[in-house]
Amino acid sequence: MSDQYIQVKVQLEQMKTLGEEAGRGGGDVDTEEQLPASSPAASVSPDPPGIISTSLGPRPRGKGRMKPGKDAQNTGGSVVSAHVGTNSNRQETERSLHIEGTEKILQGKSETNGNCVANNASKNNQETRREDGLKPARRRRPVTVDTSKAKTSLEALKISIKQLKWKEFPLGRRAACDIYWHGVSFHENENIVSGQVNKFPGMVEMLRKINLSRAMRTIQELFPDEYDFYPRSWILPEEYQQFSTQIRMVKENDATLNPTFIVKPDGGSQGDGIYLIRDPSDLKLMVGAQAKQGVVQEYIQRPLLIDKLKFDIRLYVLIKSLEPLEIYIAKEGLTRFCTEPYQEPSQKNLSHVFMHLTNYSLNVHSGNFVHSDSQSTGSKRTLSSVLYRLAAKGVEIKKVWSDIIALVIKTIIAVVPELRVYHQADIPPGKPGPTCFQILGFDILLMKNLKPILLEVNSSPSMRIEHEKEVSSGVFEFVPSPVDEEVKVGVIRDTLRLMDPGHKRPSGKSSQLRAGGFDHKEEIPIETETQDRGSDEGALPSLCLKQVYPKYTKQFNYLRLVERIASLFIRFLGVKGNMRLGPTAFRTFIRTCKLSNSNFTMASVDIFYIDSTRRWSGATTDSREAGMGLQAFVEAFYSLAGRRFKSLVQREQVLSLLELCEAQLESQSGGEDRRSVSCSRALPRAVKTQTLGPNNGSPAPLRRAASQDYRLHPRLKHRSLRANVEN
Ligand code: ADP
Repeated sequence: MSDQYIQVKVQLEQMKTLGEEAGRGGGDVDTEEQLPASSPAASVSPDPPGIISTSLGPRPRGKGRMKPGKDAQNTGGSVVSAHVGTNSNRQETERSLHIEGTEKILQGKSETNGNCVANNASKNNQETRREDGLKPARRRRPVTVDTSKAKTSLEALKISIKQLKWKEFPLGRRAACDIYWHGVSFHENENIVSGQVNKFPGMVEMLRKINLSRAMRTIQELFPDEYDFYPRSWILPEEYQQFSTQIRMVKENDATLNPTFIVKPDGGSQGDGIYLIRDPSDLKLMVGAQAKQGVVQEYIQRPLLIDKLKFDIRLYVLIKSLEPLEIYIAKEGLTRFCTEPYQEPSQKNLSHVFMHLTNYSLNVHSGNFVHSDSQSTGSKRTLSSVLYRLAAKGVEIKKVWSDIIALVIKTIIAVVPELRVYHQADIPPGKPGPTCFQILGFDILLMKNLKPILLEVNSSPSMRIEHEKEVSSGVFEFVPSPVDEEVKVGVIRDTLRLMDPGHKRPSGKSSQLRAGGFDHKEEIPIETETQDRGSDEGALPSLCLKQVYPKYTKQFNYLRLVERIASLFIRFLGVKGNMRLGPTAFRTFIRTCKLSNSNFTMASVDIFYIDSTRRWSGATTDSREAGMGLQAFVEAFYSLAGRRFKSLVQREQVLSLLELCEAQLESQSGGEDRRSVSCSRALPRAVKTQTLGPNNGSPAPLRRAASQDYRLHPRLKHRSLRANVEN
């Protein structure tokens, strides 16, 4: 065992002890309308520059809840501290935290989830305010939160609201609330016309396994190297033949290769219906007479192991806004461990789910599952505790974290185009509606070489902070889960803080850069993140959510090419509420962008349109399903770009065609909406007077009703969406 390892281990133990000092609190929901008591002003330690919070251990178990302020939870912190000290003689645990890369030492009381609140905070804060010439915080109306549909996130949400001294409406409210926190999908929220809601339209649909794979593939075509973190996938049943042929060829070329594949049902969750295969003939393609929809994916055979066990990372990510794009990543996450030692797949062990699948919901049923109060042992641990372990072994954690941030931003860039289409259909400009935000759960596997791999993204990550425990033979009860509470309360509370309607929206300066512009650097600098919070937040710990976009716009903006294609698509959709382009609108697009010529006459444009929509939708008898969806449009766009700019590589072809189309639109609209080709939903002048889409001419309500049916991806129709599952 190396000295370094022992040193870090000792530090970790010290930190665990610190966490156990944390106290309890409690209280019921206050349903009266009242001004909050003025919060005890306290200065919050700045967000350390490191990556992951120094997690200080769980609060004691039990139903008691934290008091806001002193006992408040948070997950912010720094990566691996170089020095952590305690003074065990004091009643209140104190520590000093050396911030890596700086000479700063933070001193303060430890909080249960990794924050360091400076001593004399209240005084300091007031003094700072005076020095800054700021007036003391004004009392304001408490932010109101409708929690009536929060479902399993309710417990964590209640704690968060209490810590924030906001006002909860557990049964809903006749008047509008500022924030609606819903357990499932956007479509539960149809009657909400104002405020903010924690779901985006289309997110559930977009993140199903088939749609995510499609979106990743679409962008992989343009940026194969940048998107090599998503395993090669084939969509079932339609790509079964391709899958079979490709695997046969691989094996013929190199007989020593014996790859394994993982089969996942579309819309499945919690490991349901997942199995491993080594040969395409082992695929179970049918359920009764129906073809199974799903994906078959390259299986990552060499994951990084800890204690000989495979594990994955659950990272919480907030999309604060779609337009402009704003992304935050929680500095603390979870790791879920398998319960049977890992072996590379062989015919013998393919069915060992406790060896190959990291799902908590599966492994909890294994006799080897360890529920633990500690954050660094057991079958579910904090991400920071795992990173400490790795750092102790000499792993360059900063690089791993930077790769994870890149993976998250790139994945979101891949799904945003379709989300925009859903968004304009459900909340078209001019229609009253809520603004949306959403917490996503990213499941990430680290390969043995430390490369992060995206497994999936959950639109409704479980925010439950209890777990089921067999209290006596056959009797199960929900008991608090300290590890879950540690992480999830911080994520929810800080999401609420970021969505606080009392706070100003950021200027969006960096997001004014046109999406997809080639203005990038390779590296993500990991640097200090200090967040300006409202002065009334003095007693709260620093934010555990770190902004990564637009912060890293320069590094990633060039990837947003499909989004620019989606912007064209949305412009020509024309009729509010539509998600598909009719033949006339497609012609208008070709004409307006001057894409037809003697080689590509308008007659061939029509044939091209029919061909490409048929390929995507198949022959359908339902006329409401007719039309070209975004994916088909993007494919058509790639194909048009290929014809027009034969000599270029594909990415350049697409960029050249985009620039050509955007220049045409700009010149025709006389610069009236020059500012944002990428974002505007205004129609170009030429289009405004045209006949648009299949529903044109129908009365508005009919158009709207029909458009509801356009919303689902054709492949998702006729099947119930398993939106009720939280993963
Ligand atoms: P579900 O939504 O049912 O949880 P996932 O895609 O998350 O489906 O897969 C379940 C588990 O299977 C993951 O948590 C991971 O342990 C394992 N897994 C999934 N995809 C792969 C892969 N490509 N390579 C290796 N393991 C994988």
